[in-house]
Amino acid sequence: MGTIYCMKILVSGGAGFLGSHLCDKLIVDGHEVVCLDNFYTGNEENVRHLIGHPKFELINHDVTKPINLEVGGIFNLACPASPLYYQRDPVQTLKTSIYGAINLLDLAQINSARILQASTSEVYGDPKVSPQHEDYWGHINPIGIRSCYDEGKRAAETLFTDYNRQFDVDVRIARIFNTFGPRMAIDDGRVVSNFITQSLLGEDITIYGDGNQSRSFCYVSDLIDGLTKLFFTEDIRTPINLGNPDPISIAELAKEIIKITGSNSKIVFRDLPLDDPKTRKPDIGKAKKLINWNPIVSRDEGLHATVKYFQKLLL
Ligand code: NAD
Ligand code: UDP
Repeated sequence: MGTIYCMKILVSGGAGFLGSHLCDKLIVDGHEVVCLDNFYTGNEENVRHLIGHPKFELINHDVTKPINLEVGGIFNLACPASPLYYQRDPVQTLKTSIYGAINLLDLAQINSARILQASTSEVYGDPKVSPQHEDYWGHINPIGIRSCYDEGKRAAETLFTDYNRQFDVDVRIARIFNTFGPRMAIDDGRVVSNFITQSLLGEDITIYGDGNQSRSFCYVSDLIDGLTKLFFTEDIRTPINLGNPDPISIAELAKEIIKITGSNSKIVFRDLPLDDPKTRKPDIGKAKKLINWNPIVSRDEGLHATVKYFQKLLL
């Protein structure tokens, strides 16, 4: 990484889980931050502590509509990430990914600004190879209930790559794998927040399917470190996986969370949603080599910190 100059950075989706942690990190590093959000799944509470900071601005805006701002850099995180929410209004999800990418790429072009896309491991769909390397093209149902998210993110990657090839826009693409931590919304619907909330409230823990499907969970501070390293490294125009390569089955995850919370909740099994990927594990060799990034927070440490956060909210 070369010298990092402080600049004015737009974070779309900045009031969400990852976006709010990214705003924190950019402010600490001395940048000016414009946090843009339509508050679909985000919450002003996540950035409340930044409101009034001289280098922080919060804008209520939907990325499906064009915007004109003077900025030196852009992180595009705007998009609901939980299946529960991205499936609630699938057409809006696709519009957010596609029109959102076009509007912010146009903004990047006008400003000659670098722009990073928060892409996802979902571009690999229900992968036939494991671990997933960036060269793998994926295995995706184009008309399933997850397609609005998966195909929207794939189209956004295409747009980012073509804006680079055609207009020389300085792009970065981060393929983010399952990430968890404080500020996930209680009603978010993703597995870590569901299991922790259920455990703390003594409710049944809902495993979808038989629980043998696996995911690799990355703690939020590691992920934000990876996103900023990728953004501030020169000349990386191809996608980079960011995630923790340590996989766990969903059934094992339930047991770990029960142990950490000391819960009496019982495990119940529910139908597996359609097209639910069986496995997901990142190959992070490219991130290690090109941006010198490696996750350092263990799942156990991350889960303890996340449980503490939810305890404060719920108990
Ligand atoms: P999140 O739902 O907490 O945050 C998304 C934010 O985008 C919210 O604040 C929401 O209000 C905002 N938003 C949604 N649609 C918008 C629109 N049309 N205009 C403006 N704002 C809009 O989710 P997150 O976990 O923080 O995810 C952030 C980004 O990272 C998303 O793009 C997601 O696809 C990507 N990602 C996250 C994960 C993960 O595990 N957390 C994994 C892969 C990719
Ligand atoms: N899951 C579960 N119980 C829940 C929520 C999710 O068993 O209460 C499962 C879900 O079916 C999937 C895995 O946990 O197999 C991860 O789900 P999540 O929605 O967190 O992320 P994604 O499916 O996008 O990886």
